[in-house]
Amino acid sequence: MTLNQINFTKKIVFQIFLIFSINSAVAQVQPSLGGSSRLMNSAMQEMENGNYEKANIFFRQIIDSNLPIPPEMPYFFAETLYQLEQYDNSANFLNKYLELNGFKGDNYEKAKALEKLLDVPLNAIKSCELCDRRGYRFQECFTCEGSKHLEQDCGYCKAKGIVGCSKCVGSGLITKRNVFNIIEYFECERCSGQGRLTCPTCDGSKVETSACRTCQGSGRLQSDKVCDHKDENPRHLSLLFNRIKSHN
Ligand SMILES: [Zn+2]
Ligand SMILES: [Zn+2]
Ligand SMILES: [Zn+2]
Ligand SMILES: [Zn+2]
Repeated sequence: MTLNQINFTKKIVFQIFLIFSINSAVAQVQPSLGGSSRLMNSAMQEMENGNYEKANIFFRQIIDSNLPIPPEMPYFFAETLYQLEQYDNSANFLNKYLELNGFKGDNYEKAKALEKLLDVPLNAIKSCELCDRRGYRFQECFTCEGSKHLEQDCGYCKAKGIVGCSKCVGSGLITKRNVFNIIEYFECERCSGQGRLTCPTCDGSKVETSACRTCQGSGRLQSDKVCDHKDENPRHLSLLFNRIKSHN
């Protein structure tokens, strides 16, 4: 064989190897794609019947299953989430769909239309003070009841309101040696001879105010209730003030 023939043979062998490995990869993918196609069909069926809650469950099964995700799935999931008023999540899947498929996606036109529809609720979420950025209503923190702070016993003075003077170690007196090397006693000027000082942490109030740990000092917690952006009864002045502020 000439060098050319050897190279040619090598090339053929490599190509056969390539075809073989692609085939086996396809063979591995196909049965599982069947699994997600079935879930996808079930989800679409529920969508057609207007059962978006059920469709949502099937779509989430596709995501949780680690099966390959059918290319049109993110669009239909986005539409379902829109119907369920989960606008932020809907936008996430819609963006993913457009990013992956571009204008070649079967549902490109519908996706662009949904993108427009999402503008209104997404802007409403952005300008609402009552919900988080995903559109879920805040609830009042159950620990601090919205006050953001909690009063506890002062940890520094152990709720005594006073602490021992560190300069005189609580004795009220300090000692100095005079020129004759004799110890003389003086009244401690820091505590005026009292041996104790008002607690610098609580100013003698015995209580310490610290940011609520449950809500990290925000006074509110996330919930899973979709916000309608309406404040029925402003129970807290702070909410009212926020609204006044936002008009300036
Ligand atoms: Zn709190
Ligand atoms: Zn002192
Ligand atoms: Zn204290
Ligand atoms: Zn809101």
